[in-house]
Amino acid sequence: MDLRGWLGQAIDWYERWAGEFGEYRPHPALDVGEERFAEAFGEFTERLGDNYPFFHPRYAGQMLKPPHPAAIAGYLAAMQVNPNNHALDGGPATAAMEKDVVAQLAAMFGFGEHLGHLTTSGTVANLEVLFVARETHPGLGVAYSADSHYTHARMCHLIGVEGHPVPVDAAGRMDLSALSELLETGRIGTVVLTAGTTGLGAVDPIHEALALRERYGVRLHVDAAYGGFFTLIADDREDGVASAPWRAIARCDSVVVDPHKHGLQPYGCGAVLFADPAVGRFYRHDSPYTYFTSDQLHLGEISLECSRAGAAAAALWLTLRLLPLTPDGLGAVLRPGRRAALRWAELLSGSAYLAPYQRPELDIVAYLPRLATLSAIDEASDRMLHHGMTDRDDPVFLATYAVTGASLRERGHRVADDVPRGRILRSVLMKPEAEGYLDRLHDRVERLAARP
Ligand SMILES: *Cc1c(COP(=O)(O)O)cnc(C)c1O
Repeated sequence: MDLRGWLGQAIDWYERWAGEFGEYRPHPALDVGEERFAEAFGEFTERLGDNYPFFHPRYAGQMLKPPHPAAIAGYLAAMQVNPNNHALDGGPATAAMEKDVVAQLAAMFGFGEHLGHLTTSGTVANLEVLFVARETHPGLGVAYSADSHYTHARMCHLIGVEGHPVPVDAAGRMDLSALSELLETGRIGTVVLTAGTTGLGAVDPIHEALALRERYGVRLHVDAAYGGFFTLIADDREDGVASAPWRAIARCDSVVVDPHKHGLQPYGCGAVLFADPAVGRFYRHDSPYTYFTSDQLHLGEISLECSRAGAAAAALWLTLRLLPLTPDGLGAVLRPGRRAALRWAELLSGSAYLAPYQRPELDIVAYLPRLATLSAIDEASDRMLHHGMTDRDDPVFLATYAVTGASLRERGHRVADDVPRGRILRSVLMKPEAEGYLDRLHDRVERLAARP
């Protein structure tokens, strides 16, 4: 799509809409003048260039990529109005769009009745879940896997709830027998399962954890901030993911997903969904300033955040209108990265210089130089990272991941752990372009590893 043209149309639309309200003159205090703006903008864009090329498949590092052009056009169009989705008074159109997209996300996870809203981030979305968990299970702790996002431990600290890390198995998934032992103590009220860990993309056995809820009366929350959209390709096909854990999300108490990760959105777009709408009671508050235009539900009444960008809901709404939450819609955007991850793991297995850390479960590949000690692996990984991104002719951007000697040996790597922890390499292949670029990427990374 012609983004330049559509951005112009977004401005045209705004001017037409604004024109409906009659003449007015912007205050001269706001006028900065074309010349001064040109100068400032020149300086600004110069500074902005100090960034990594997240859009390019040679960027194979963290969970970063630009939004879809439809999201950019949608965000810009709505941002000109600048609605605040806190309350219907702040922008009825984007609040309605938010309710639409939340219903689509709920349907994707198989939630029937639900209560949910967008958030600024996965962090806030998970915080809301932990807050509700504390209210429904007062005095009890929260269990999460040792490989879960650090936000869970941190937010438990924040809300004054005891957090309990549960060990992971050799695939990086929560060890359910360790969890059962912990639940036996009677100290846990909520279990956080991760569908796609941030480090490795490991998926906790959510389907097997369902039985524990009945037995121990715990809440089950799924942190699918990164992996949630893989639900669309959870079909057990070769280029899909295993269906069982994803189907089980429908039977859990809550789920979090970040449209700003795999939903093609700019930052500022997370989402939280609760299966039981009655949890809305924990959010109850009164506000002397808002909620006056309508008796209908205002999103701020069920959200811990106050102001939120209506533009974020608008951008997601427009994107999903074009790439709906179906296997052929957004699912087709995820599959190429999944295929790239599987093929890369294969290529790495055959490499003389590099080995895959474990088989990727989603589209995240972790790998390491074939060296005998953890300190040598750590040094080589660091060197590859820096040589890769400072090479002027053919740069490649990777990320690292800290592991222990024990976690390497559990996965069959024969390594002496002369240091307690060391870094290996990690690449998130979240752009569909990764598939077509994979041979070049592998070749480039292998040459980095071969270089002394
Ligand atoms: C990214 C992530 C988070 C944190 O979400 P933000 O949007 O970065 O605040 C939480 N959990 C998981 C599994 C994540 O991948």
